[in-house]
Parts: sequence; structure tokens; C-alpha cells
Amino acid sequence: MTWPGDTWPGDPFDLPREAALLAAANRTTLASDRRLAGVVAPGSAEELRAVLRAAVRDGLALHPVSTGRNWGYGSRRPHRNGAILVSLAALDAIEDYDEVTGTVVVGPGVTFAALAAFLASRGGRFQPPRTGSSPGSSVVGNIAERGIGKDLYEDMAGHLVGLAVMTADGGLHEVGPMRGPILPPAGPDLRGLFVQGNLGIVLRARIRLALTPPVRQVVAAALPSHGALAAFVEASRAALQIGDPWLRVEIVNAARAVAQDEESPGAPWLAYATVWGKGPEDLALRARTAANLLGRCGTGLEVCAPDDGPPAAPSTTGLHSAYHGKPFAMPDDPDPDRDRCGVLWVTANLRHHGGEVAGITEAFETIMSAHGFAPALSLRAIDGRSLRLVAGLFGDRDRPGDDARATACAEALHALMARNGIPVGRRTSAQEVGQDLDQNPGDARLARALKRALDPDEILAPGRGIPAGPPLPGLPLTFGGPPDDPVLDDLARQMAADLDGLVAGLPEGLARDARAALAAYAGKHPTFFGLYYRPTWSFLARVALPGPAARHRPRLRRLHALTLFLHLWDDHLADGQLAPTLGRIHLRSCAWSAMEDEAAALSRAAGLPDAPWRDAAAAYLEAVGAPPEPADLDAALALARREAALCTIAPGLHAALAGEDAAALARIIEDFAVAWRIVDDLQDIGRDAAAGRRSTVRLALTGAAAGAWDAAGVGDPRALAALAARLGPAVPGLVARAQAALDAARAVAQAHGWRDLAADLAASRVVIPDVAAPDPALR
Ligand SMILES: Cc1cc2nc3c(=O)[nH]c(=O)nc-3n(C[C@H](O)[C@H](O)[C@H](O)COP(=O)(O)OP(=O)(O)OC[C@H]3O[C@@H](n4cnc5c(N)ncnc54)[C@H](O)[C@@H]3O)c2cc1C
Repeated sequence: MTWPGDTWPGDPFDLPREAALLAAANRTTLASDRRLAGVVAPGSAEELRAVLRAAVRDGLALHPVSTGRNWGYGSRRPHRNGAILVSLAALDAIEDYDEVTGTVVVGPGVTFAALAAFLASRGGRFQPPRTGSSPGSSVVGNIAERGIGKDLYEDMAGHLVGLAVMTADGGLHEVGPMRGPILPPAGPDLRGLFVQGNLGIVLRARIRLALTPPVRQVVAAALPSHGALAAFVEASRAALQIGDPWLRVEIVNAARAVAQDEESPGAPWLAYATVWGKGPEDLALRARTAANLLGRCGTGLEVCAPDDGPPAAPSTTGLHSAYHGKPFAMPDDPDPDRDRCGVLWVTANLRHHGGEVAGITEAFETIMSAHGFAPALSLRAIDGRSLRLVAGLFGDRDRPGDDARATACAEALHALMARNGIPVGRRTSAQEVGQDLDQNPGDARLARALKRALDPDEILAPGRGIPAGPPLPGLPLTFGGPPDDPVLDDLARQMAADLDGLVAGLPEGLARDARAALAAYAGKHPTFFGLYYRPTWSFLARVALPGPAARHRPRLRRLHALTLFLHLWDDHLADGQLAPTLGRIHLRSCAWSAMEDEAAALSRAAGLPDAPWRDAAAAYLEAVGAPPEPADLDAALALARREAALCTIAPGLHAALAGEDAAALARIIEDFAVAWRIVDDLQDIGRDAAAGRRSTVRLALTGAAAGAWDAAGVGDPRALAALAARLGPAVPGLVARAQAALDAARAVAQAHGWRDLAADLAASRVVIPDVAAPDPALR
């Protein structure tokens, strides 16, 4: 796996060495103010899972692509600024070719060229898909964008049989049949959720291949006017609605033909019908039907000779139009991003209705010409019911003004479509999705509910396909940290070594997985225990163990390291942030029994019964395993105390062995846990509200603010914005409550003469950063 620098997980913005890679990834053929902040290229599902975990931990958005050649729609640029590109090009396996069903399973890195070579090597029974774009682009990427195929592959997504997708929680799901019969089995069909959506990352797709027909013939005619265009669209409807898969219709205007370096048709429009057949008679019949259709509406009918050659292999021919606006010809290795070609597509879904098609194409031509573009248009008939209109804005990004012209023209075309209720077929990544789903509140609510359930942290391509919830960032509160202290740094290292000792006892494969997960959690911290605020463990160094009790120090440290680890591990296994693999569950069991052994041994050494630590462990298990729904804020904070009970076992024993007040040291840990819960919930307001969690913030809200939180939780797209405006009064109250818990802890430490611990707690005051534009909710 290539990390952005060698620092992520941890710090994806530390990228100086990767600047060139990042600059290349950010190249695109259109103006966009969305930029990538980093690039990762996972080489396996496991590596992808680690990327997802790091993204959740760091609150970063991911932008998955297959080969990233989405030229004219934003290339690799994300919908959300600052996202990390996840390139899946390395996953390029071709598997499970099945001649009976005519299907094959491809990874996202499988290009059109690679699949064509594979199918040729298997005898060419099935025709490879191809598009007008690069042979080096991805079959999966094209399907994920609902791309347009050539020849017998028109609607690429229509060839999707099944998918293997990874959701944001790292779960791998097979959606639709990945083997065996290709009919979806009984139950709902979820495949469409992952096409132009942002609910998962596609790791494999099973696609239905088109049989290679023995013979083919092309019939063409010029359409001299918009009237002739309308007549041809009308005339072709019935033939296409019959559902003959061996008939395809494409119409291009003169500007599109010229952009493609083809001869000008000498008429405004040129219509092609391609027919295939089992043999000469079959073909002749179809060709006659096509010729009749075109002859009735067009002029200069041309019936090409039947062609029994192999299907056209994917080639770069279709990319000529990308270079139409450049002062140089298309090179042998075309790359419109590198060559700063201006390409921006506007795609509209139309009814197969002559008058509507003629009207909208005429309006497109007017708008494009007014913006200084040759109005390059093509129409792709699908099934006699729908047509795709694709408008190409071709320019030169090195020519001043071209970018702005293209953006303005695309906006004008989209505005025209919105006025006329014409849906967008494919969006660029230069803008986040929003408006069109918003026009249909039912769709928006359902889509948002799915997004919330599958990607509550909104890490997957936010703004693509399903609109992101209105941003309600968490409040940037934190605890102040005690000044650097080598004693505490050393202690954290020793605790990490204690934990590693446990991991080292696992079988090698499980140990590797556990180490990777712990390292991902540690992120930018030097050790895993850097994740925990210091007052939760600094007592190990701050509260003296006099005389012979000092020999228990390593066991106390190990016990506390285990309880802190279990606290986090259990929490994330329970809420799904950590995929519950057998290895992770096994590690948890080992940690739990090691914790019990240490607690029992230390209790014996302190001359105490086992009951107190066993009660604390039971209280913890109950609070975490079967938490009651807190009725109010006090109940929620009492629950936070019980959840911290496990982490009070070592402090209690430490104090007892030191001849100090066990309950007092345990109380300090609990108070800190209360403050931490509040701060954590304030940091996560947006996420929790969108997920409908009854966090301490929700419990502190009343009236309209509480109503807005609840509405956001059931997917009302406007509720988060309303909540942001109403949060104000609750926040200072919660901050004060967190600070009061810290003050109480400090008072206990002072009363018992634990001066250094009191100093740690004093330094941990709740910090409200001095932000340039202070959030009114904080003041
Ligand atoms: C001159 C020219 C002609 C073109 N002709 C055509 C044409 O005939 N038909 C056509 O369809 N396009 C065409 N294109 C547009 C584009 O180049 C192709 O659609 C190309 O296949 C997309 O790039 P890709 O396959 O590398 O997909 P990617 O860029 O990898 O993916 C496209 C998008 O799909 C999503 N995605 C991709 N992979 C995954 C995944 N594994 N999991 C989740 N989401 C994913 C992402 O949002 C990504 O941005 C043309 C472009 C140009 C410049």
C-alpha cells in the first residue's frame, strides 16, 4: 500500500515528498475548486479496511476511484475538498469467467484493454465492452459512473450482475449473485445502490458479456433539420421498443463529428443504425428495416457493406475530441489531464420523444454557441423509451478564459434542464450533489437514512450520489495537556510494551492484524496510550508506592494498560468501528483473562478480597454490554461513570497498596471520564445528531433544539442547519459541567496531597480554541 508520505494513518497533510504524486492526481480537464489532500493505493481488501479505519479516526473523507480517468466529469478530483484519493487500480484480477452464463468477475483495476485481451484469449465468444474513452480506463469505474458503452454495451450499469462492496465499517458484502445463476435471488435487489452512489467501495463486479454476433452492418443517413431529427426519433421508437438487442441507434451533430476528427456530414445531424445478425439473411432483414427507417427521415442514405470481422477492440480513437480545443494533435499516448485539455460533459436523460429531443437539442446549441463553443452533441438511444443527450464542451485549459466559459456554459445548460424538469444523467465532481434530490424530499430522506446507517461518519465520497448532511461540525473543544514530561513519556512506552507482550502471545497472523489495528489507532501518537488523556493513567507515576509496595509497580502498570485497552477495544467492537474478526475477539478474551489474573494477584498482595474489582468489572460489562437508555443528562453521566469502572480497578489497588484512599483515586478517574464524555460528545455533535444518538448534547437540549436534533436523526435534510442555529444555550452549560467534573477531580487529588496529579488535572482544563470566526454556540 502506498501511503501519502509514510505518515498516514496519522497525518495525511504531511505530504512534501508526495507533492508530485498529489499534483498529478489533482489534474483535471475542468475548473474545480475541490482538491485532493492525499493519495492511497490499497493493494488488498485488508489494506482498504485499514484506510477506512484511519479515515473514521481522523474524520477525513475518502474519494474512491478505479483507474481515475473520469475525464470530462472531474477526473480524480473529489466532490468534497480535502478528500483522500483511494486508487483501486492495483486490484486488477480477472476471475470466474463462466461461458455458460457469459459472465466474468473483474476487479476495479481491470481495464477495457485487459478484459478485451482476456476474452480474445478465451476464443472471442463474447464481445469485450468498450467506450469512447481510453482502453486504459476501468470497466468497474465506468459501471460505477453509469457509463455509456459502444456497440452491444449501451448502458454499462445494465450489465452488472453482482458486486462485492466494502462499506465504511470495513464490512465486505456480496450484493447480487457473484457466482452461479445470474438471476438475483429472492429478496430485494440492492445492486443499484452502489452505482453513482456513495454507500460503499466496489472491490469486484460480475458483469454480463454480450455474445459476439457473427455479422454486422452499419446504415447511416444525414438529417437535414431539427424536424428530420424529430421525425427519426419518433420513427425509431417502435423498432427499439420491441427490444431487439441487435439494433443500436446513435445520432451526432456536425460539431460532434468534427470534434471527433471525422468528416463533416454536410448536414446538421448524422444518424447511424448498427445491426447485427446470426448470418447473411438475418442481417439483411435487419439492415433493410434500418434503411427503411433512415431513408424515410434522412437524406444521402449509406448502407455500408456487411462486416464479419472481429468486434472492434478498445482504442484511443474516441479521445480525439478531447484534443479538439488544443493547438496540437492528439499524441500517441493521450492523457487529457496531463495535456490540459478542456473537457466538460453535460449529460441529460430524455424521453424518446421527437419533439422534446428536437426542442432541447436546439436550446443546447443556442446556449453553447452563445458561450463560444461549437455545440458538439450526441444522442444515444437506449430502448425506445429513453435517450441520453451528451454535450461536450471542448477547450484548452491553457487558454485564458476557457475554464470560466466552460463552467458558465455548463451552469446555463443545467439551469435550462432544471427549468424543464430534465434530469442530469451524470454529474461532474466539481460540485456536491444536492439540488435534484432535494426536489424530491422522499428520495432525499430515504437516501440520507441509508447513508446514515452505512456511513455515519460520512467518510465515503461525501457529496457524490447521495447528498451529504448539511455540515454541522463538532465543536473543536479539547483538554489542555500537561507540559512535556519524560517520566510520563517513558510510562506510556512501558504500557505499550506491556500490551505488545500480550499481542506477541497470539499466533503470528492474529498478532499482525492486532498490531496493525493498534498502530492505526495510535496514529500520530508515538504509542497507543497517547490516545488517552494523561490524567487517566499518570497516577501510576504521580502517586508514590512506598517501600515494598514499589515492587508491584510493573503489575499495576500492566493491569491498567489492559483495562484502558479493553475499554476502547470493547467500545469499538460493540459499535462496529472495529470489525469483529475472530482474532480481535480472541485478543479481547486474552486481555480480559490477563486483566483478571493481575487484579486477583494484586488484590491478594494488598490483602483485599476479590469482590471490589469483580464488582467494578461487572458494572463495566453491564454498562457497556447492555446500556440502559439514559432518561436525562444526569443518568447519561452516571452511565459514563459506570463505563469507566473497569479503569478504576488499577487505581483502587494502587491506592490500597500505597496505603492511600482507594475510593478517592478511583473517583478521580470517574470524574475525568465524565468530563471526557461531555467533551467527546461536543466534538461529535454533527455526527451524533445525524445518527440520531441520544448523546449528552441531545439530553441537554430542550424545546425546538431537541426537536431539530430528533428530526435530523430521522433524516430530515434541513434539520441539522436548524439545529446549528439553536444549539447555543446548551453548549456553555455542558462545557461548565465538564469543567466542574475536572475541578472535582483536582480537589480530591489536592485533598489527598497528590500534588503532581492535581497539577496534571489543572493543566487539563477544557480548552476552547481561539478560532478566527468564533462559533456563536461556544460563546
Ligand atoms: C473524449 C472522451 C470520450 C469519452 N467517452 C466516453 C464514453 O463513450 N462512455 C463513457 O461512459 N465515458 C466516456 N468518457 C468519460 C470517462 O473517460 C469514462 O467514463 C471512463 O471510463 C471513466 O474513468 P474510469 O473508468 O477510470 O473510472 P474512475 O475514474 O475510476 O471512476 C469513475 C467514478 O466512479 C466512482 N468509482 C469508481 N470506482 C469505484 C469503486 N471501485 N467503488 C466506488 N466508486 C467508484 C468514483 O466516483 C469515480 O470518480 C469519455 C471521456 C473523454 C475525454
